[in-house]
Formats: sequence, C-alpha cells, structure tokens
Amino acid sequence: MVYENPDGVMIGLEIHVQLNKLNTKLFCGCSTDYHNDEPNTHVCPVCMGLPGSLPVLNKKAVEYAIKIGLAMNCEIVEQTQFHRKNYYYPDLPKGFQTTQYDFPIVGNGTIVIDGEDGEHEVGITRAHMEEDPGKLMHMGSIEKSKGTLIDYNRSGMALVEIVTEPDMRSPKEARRFLDKLRNILEYLDVFNGDLEGSMRVDANVSIGGGDRAEVKNISSHKGAERALLYEIMRQKNLVRRGGTVVMETRHFDEARGVTISMRTKEEEHDYRYFPEPDLVPMRVTDWVDGIRAVLPELPDARRARFISDYNVADTHAKALTSDIRVADFYESVAKEVDPVVAAAWVADILKGELNYRDLGINSFKVEDLVKIINLVTSDKITEKSGVDVIRTILDDGGNPEEIVEKKGLVKVEGDIVSQAISESLDENPEALQDFLAGKEKSLNFLVGQVMKKTRGRADAQSARELLIREIDEKHR
Ligand SMILES: [Zn+2]
Repeated sequence: MVYENPDGVMIGLEIHVQLNKLNTKLFCGCSTDYHNDEPNTHVCPVCMGLPGSLPVLNKKAVEYAIKIGLAMNCEIVEQTQFHRKNYYYPDLPKGFQTTQYDFPIVGNGTIVIDGEDGEHEVGITRAHMEEDPGKLMHMGSIEKSKGTLIDYNRSGMALVEIVTEPDMRSPKEARRFLDKLRNILEYLDVFNGDLEGSMRVDANVSIGGGDRAEVKNISSHKGAERALLYEIMRQKNLVRRGGTVVMETRHFDEARGVTISMRTKEEEHDYRYFPEPDLVPMRVTDWVDGIRAVLPELPDARRARFISDYNVADTHAKALTSDIRVADFYESVAKEVDPVVAAAWVADILKGELNYRDLGINSFKVEDLVKIINLVTSDKITEKSGVDVIRTILDDGGNPEEIVEKKGLVKVEGDIVSQAISESLDENPEALQDFLAGKEKSLNFLVGQVMKKTRGRADAQSARELLIREIDEKHR
C-alpha cells in the first residue's frame, strides 16, 4: 500500500538538540548542569560574550556532532569552521551567535522511520553546531506578557541543529521522526532527553504545493504532532475559503492547542555572516574513522539482533528497542529467563503498567521481574497473579515473595479448585442449563466464577477443563 498523501502535506523539521551530556559548555568551562540551579549562576565572561573574552572550543562537542552525523548516515565535511551570525536579541548579549554557516559539520543523510505506508526515509539536509542563546522567560503568555526576564545559564550550551528535507507527509510521521531521532541520540549517549529544553523543534509545513508556514519553538513530540494537526487544518480551511497561505512564522500555544501568527516573512534577514576570527578552521577528516570504530550499536541494529539472537517477534523487538533503557532492561532479564517469555513480560505487560502510571523502566528492578517470571513459569503463581505482583510493587513497593505470601497468591489446585467448581455450579444453575443447552458463552461465566472464588489463584485453562469434566460427569 502506498500512502497517497491526500492533502499534499509536506513537513520539514529543524531540531535543536542540546548536548547536555557534555560537562562544560561549547566555548567555556561553565558547567552544563544548570537545570536545577538559580538563574544566572552558570555564567562567565565567555558565555556572556563580554568584550575581550575568548572562546575555546570543546573538542568533545565536535566528536558528539560527528557521532550524530554518522548515526544519521551523513557525510562528514573535511573542514569546518564557525561563523558569527550577527543580530541583536536580548538573549544574545554579545550581538552575534557563533554558529556554522556554509560548511556545516555534517550533511546529506537519512533516517528511516515507520511511515504511513511502512518504512519511510527522511532526508537529512544538514546538521551544524552552534551555541545556545540565553532563555527568555515571559511573564504570562508570550502575547500579553508585561515583562521578560533573561536567564543566561543556557547561554553557550552546545547545540547541534538538525535540518531535514520536507519529507514527512503527516503529523504522525513528524512525531515518529522525532521519536526515532531521540532514540538514536540516547543510544549515542550524547544527550539526556528528559531535561527541559533538550530538544526544541521548529516545523515547516505546506499543503498542496502552497507556501509554507513555520511553527516555532515546539517543546515536545506530542506538541509537534498537535501543532501540525492544527496548522494543516488551518491551511486547509484557509484555502477552502478562497484564501492563500502566506509565508510566515507562527508560534504554537501549547495550552490552547493553536498556532498564532508572530510575523510574516518580511525581508530576508541579512545576518552579515563572517568567519569567527577567534576560532581557527578545523580539519575533522582524521577524527572520523576513530569515532566510527567506537560508534555504539544503534536502534535498528539492536532490533535486528534481538530477532536473530533471542528469536523474539518483530513487534516485540521494535517495542523493546525504541528506548535504550528498555532494551538494556530487557537484555538483563533475558539473560536469566527464556528470552521470548521475557520479551512478552517486558513489552506487553510491564511497559503497559509503567505507561499507565507514567513511570520509566528504571522504576522497576530487573531481579524482581526475573523472580516474577520464574514464579509463573514454575507454576507457583498464575500469570494473572504475576501481573498483580507487578502492580503491587509499582503502587505500594515490596518484593515479589513477600507480596505472594501476603496476598496469598500461591496457585491453588486440587481440593480448593474442585470446591470452587462445585460451588459455582450449585450457585448458578441457569448458567449450567444454558451451557448444557449449547450456549458456549456461559462456560466463560462459570470459569469467571471459579477464578473469583479462588481470587485469581487458579489456572484459568485447567479450571476450564476441570469444569467441563465435572459437568460431563455429574450433570449430563
Ligand atoms: Zn561560561
């Protein structure tokens, strides 16, 4: 099946990725660990751009940028250099931003996503390095703010700006791209996506070959999908009413779920780019092979390995590798128990329980899941009780053995089940008659009664078989 793209949607993304796993900023020694600190406490003359201060390039930041380029199947330039992009803005006290202009460090790559019609390739136009400006804090909404505060802690943080081709054909594809990119970056260990502002997105969107609008500063993947859904609907309605989409910059108001016009694209800005005289051009060719040699296993490769090494289903492999923490967790569990069984417990059950509570995989212990799986596979507790133990640990804490003991979950067989079966049949003569009259469904009801009486500790399959035997022997 080929996706027809009925509205002719074209979406391109520009993503600012903050290299927040570096210890220091891009051009100075200030610590990057500012997220929980007071404003303006991680600043120095360099990242404030005070006259006379000189930048010193963070070599690790360059290595990270190359790593990211290689992971996106990009070409790495032979030589790169920084430029000054001149403009005045309150979050940029020195009056220019140090960035890369005509020789971005990487270009020409691809990332494969799960598209509307299967695997879909998104082109990477370029990725360049630049410094983050400070952060403007609007008092209230950006439209009505009476004043603005500035925090320069962020100023000078290393960014990699990734620019894609307009290859995404729906908001869903844009979100999948962002999820995949984040996943790759986390596998590379170059950034922590949980920190505020670690990934900021601008989206260009057009329909039916018309002009494009740019939606700025979207802060989450879900936000990107919502902003794009709204923006496409706005453009469609505009065209349907006979209007034309104009090239403009819009802001996404998360709270209201709408995009608002900020400014129409007037004149093309003249930033007066010129080479940064305080930083020499860099030849990076010699670094590339060394970095390629130590590139970690990436999500797609790991997914393929899970299928070949552990024999897990593709859907499980995909679910398990879409987050490096889940993949690591799974591999630890799979070392202790049957990998296929482990895959089902992690991907289908544990992930669901965690998502429901909005918790990460680190909220659960590998050894606890191993214990639970062992209790189930050795027939000590039922699968249903296993799920119960997971829920109890997540909600109230404790360890598997204690919970099994305290809640009396040890699987019951023999007399207790037989008794529950006789009671269920005695108490529900109508259901029994219905079943004898050929209504298969009433058997489910009776099994349910047995499970209820044994508080889920009976094995449902064998309870079902025992019920049928009992009916055949005593009631036919
Ligand atoms: Zn600094």
